[in-house]
Amino acid sequence: MELKVLGCHGGETAQHRTTSFLVDGRLALDAGATTAMLTLEEQMALDAVVVSHAHLDHVRDLASLADNRCQGAARPLVIAGTAATIRALKDHFFNNVLWPDFTNIPLVGGGGATVELKVLEPEVAQEVAGYSLKAVLVSHTIESAGIVVSRDGAALAFSGDTGPTERFWEVLKETPGLRAVLQEVSFPNELEWLAKVSGHHTPSTLERELLKFTRKDIPWLMFHIKPSCQAKVERELSKLHEDRLELLSLGDEFVL
Ligand SMILES: [Zn+2]
Ligand SMILES: [Zn+2]
Repeated sequence: MELKVLGCHGGETAQHRTTSFLVDGRLALDAGATTAMLTLEEQMALDAVVVSHAHLDHVRDLASLADNRCQGAARPLVIAGTAATIRALKDHFFNNVLWPDFTNIPLVGGGGATVELKVLEPEVAQEVAGYSLKAVLVSHTIESAGIVVSRDGAALAFSGDTGPTERFWEVLKETPGLRAVLQEVSFPNELEWLAKVSGHHTPSTLERELLKFTRKDIPWLMFHIKPSCQAKVERELSKLHEDRLELLSLGDEFVL
C-alpha cells in the first residue's frame, strides 16, 4: 500500500492542513484536506472516503469533493463510517441546508448518485473499494472510530481522534500484516485538562498508550498536533526517547 499525507494537523493555517490521508490514490482516510491537496483528476480517481468521525476538521472537504465529482466522476463516491458518523453526515452536512444532499443528486455524466453512504459495523471487516476496513470504536467526545485498512496481506491502522483507549490496541495485536499506525497527539502536557475534555492525547498520555502496544517494528506516524502547540508538542515527544514515533509532514509518502 502507498500512503500519502494530505493533512496531518489539528488545525489549519497557510502551512497546516487538517486530517486526511490517501491510500494508493484510491481510498481517503478522513477528508480534512482532500480537495485542498488533490488535483481535480486525483479527486475523480478516488473510490471511497472512510471517515473516522463527524467533526468538521475530518469531513469538511467532503463538501467540495462531492460538488466537484458531480460534474466529472464516472462512478459514485462511497463515504463509509460508523452509524453515528453516517447519521451526522445525513442530518447535519448533506441535509439540503448546510450543503446539498449529494446522495440524491445524480452524476452529470450518468453512473448513479454522486455519493453513496455506507455504514461500518464496529469490529466487522467490510469490503470497500477493494480494501478490507475494520472500524474500532475509540474514545472521543462523539462516536469516533479507529480504522484498520487491509489489502494483499498488508495492513495500516488509523487511530482517528481519540484519547486513551483500550480496544483499538487489542485489535491491532490480532491484525496480521500490520505495517504502521497513524496515531493522533494534539496538545502539550500543560494542556492535559483540555486534551481530557476534548478526547485527545498529550505526549504524556501517549506514553501510556505506547505501553499498551509494544511491538518495536511498527512505526507510529503522528498527526493532529494543534498548529499553535507544534513546537512544544514536538519537544515533549522527543523527550519520550521512543524510536517508534515519527512526526508527519504534508506530502510525506510511505510504501507499506
Ligand atoms: Zn474530533
Ligand atoms: Zn480532529
